[in-house]
Amino acid sequence: MNTVYHVNSNLSKYDAVVVGSGPNGLAAAIRLALEGLKVKVVEASETVGGGMRTKELISAGYKHDVCSAIHPLAVSSPFLKKLPLSNYGLEWIKPEYAAAHPLDDGEAAFLSHDLSETAFLLGEDEETYKKLVSPIVNKWDNLTEDFLGPLSIPKHPLSLASFGLKGLLPASLLKRKFKTEKGQALFAGMAAHSILPLNSVATSAIGLVFYGAAHTGGWPLPKGGSQNIADAMAGYFLSLGGEIETSHRVSSLKDIPETKTILFDLTPKQVIRIAGDVLPPSYKNKLSTFRYGSGVFKVDYILKSPVPWRDENCLKAGTVHLGGKFEEIAESEKMISEGIHSDNPFVLVAQQSLFDKTRTPEDKHTLWAYCHVPNGSTRDMTEIIENQIERFAPGFKDVIESRFAMNTADFENYNENYIGGDINGGRQDITQLFSRPVSFIDPYNIPAKGLYFCSSSTPPGGGVHGMCGFHAANSVLKNEFGRSKSDWNFNL
Ligand SMILES: Cc1cc2nc3c(=O)[nH]c(=O)nc-3n(C[C@H](O)[C@H](O)[C@H](O)COP(=O)(O)OP(=O)(O)OC[C@H]3O[C@@H](n4cnc5c(N)ncnc54)[C@H](O)[C@@H]3O)c2cc1C
Repeated sequence: MNTVYHVNSNLSKYDAVVVGSGPNGLAAAIRLALEGLKVKVVEASETVGGGMRTKELISAGYKHDVCSAIHPLAVSSPFLKKLPLSNYGLEWIKPEYAAAHPLDDGEAAFLSHDLSETAFLLGEDEETYKKLVSPIVNKWDNLTEDFLGPLSIPKHPLSLASFGLKGLLPASLLKRKFKTEKGQALFAGMAAHSILPLNSVATSAIGLVFYGAAHTGGWPLPKGGSQNIADAMAGYFLSLGGEIETSHRVSSLKDIPETKTILFDLTPKQVIRIAGDVLPPSYKNKLSTFRYGSGVFKVDYILKSPVPWRDENCLKAGTVHLGGKFEEIAESEKMISEGIHSDNPFVLVAQQSLFDKTRTPEDKHTLWAYCHVPNGSTRDMTEIIENQIERFAPGFKDVIESRFAMNTADFENYNENYIGGDINGGRQDITQLFSRPVSFIDPYNIPAKGLYFCSSSTPPGGGVHGMCGFHAANSVLKNEFGRSKSDWNFNL
């Protein structure tokens, strides 16, 4: 292995080395390889994937998604959807319902992949749902192009403006449009994906994006597990001439092979540790003020039979949102952002084995469930998560065969990017959503020769969509290789 930091040297073996093989690292690597550059990915773990790994966490034959499970953002990603990933084994499965949100009266609200059905099932809120969500669905391609990137002059200003006015509202204000408990609760579950208090500016945008995604690409899961997205991306990258080295942890610039440019699929804290010596002090200071978000506590289960939901239609949904009414979810998210644990948290559940028989042997099932907790929490939330599931599925505890829990420290040990259990590479409030990790016009470009960020600590932030990597690679092409858009082989 070479031990010299040789950015911009013409003698370098590689045009670019990407540190980290999460969705953004792999997306950046593919993007650069598509332009004929010589690219290598180095990854600390034994396998590629970052937040897209699937493992036998409990027993042989039972596949659990360690991190991401459900992929509305991947199938909406302008970059990922242009890649031939199905040729590399990626197959999507779309459950009948994207999400279910059971309530205490025994009924549930449903987000169907069909907009009219979703609206119809909301009863009195049918017209409100249609009025709010139809314009988003109609302009979806324009919106995702503008929304999934850094702050810049929008390509589709009218589409963005009509979305932006509603999206900027706190979810706690936009929810007033819904009259029914179901309508309000369903929206709370969508907006709570922001991992922010629901009275924060722009939490409506997150909720509306998840609604829009359901009625366009859907909320699918990959056959065999999220690892198959990673494996398909890695397979495609290798076919373009790329190289991947796993079990290669980078702790300083000296651990990186000779290269003209380096892209970090890492968060600011790690980049300061690895490259702090070559960063201008003012930039390093700005990076050190980057704020991380709340953490997660997760439990994976093997079940003897499916979850006995009180409303059996919940078995038609890939995702189930638990936490009851809008006000309850708002209260728990507020507490968590203030550093207080909630005994009544919002719990996200995925039931992949109901739709994908490759996940378990025979007629057994898996379940994936996590809740939000304060950053750095060490509290065991297993019982609290199980109580929340039992509340809407009496008898759930009786069908548990075994479980595997991870607190925030376990997550950070598993993947160094999950600082304090933060799964989004930094808090995603309005001040850090588009201007992460610092407010530069080109936030990917680190002001030190040849260094770039490409992780979810850059716009558009967390989730499996690869758009951070895509934009970072475009910045590299322009700034380091003088290739403007008109010279590109690949375009969206
Ligand atoms: C429990 C959980 C549930 C989630 N659910 C979903 C979901 O359903 N849908 C969704 O879209 N998103 C989900 N996410 C979020 C999603 O996984 C992340 O936002 C996404 O993976 C971030 O991608 P990334 O490429 O920026 O970084 P990561 O995926 O974190 O990848 C970073 C990579 O860098 C490697 N690395 C770190 N340090 C070093 C080093 N020093 N040297 C070399 N390599 C290093 C890591 O091992 C890792 O492979 C979930 C995350 C978690 C934890």
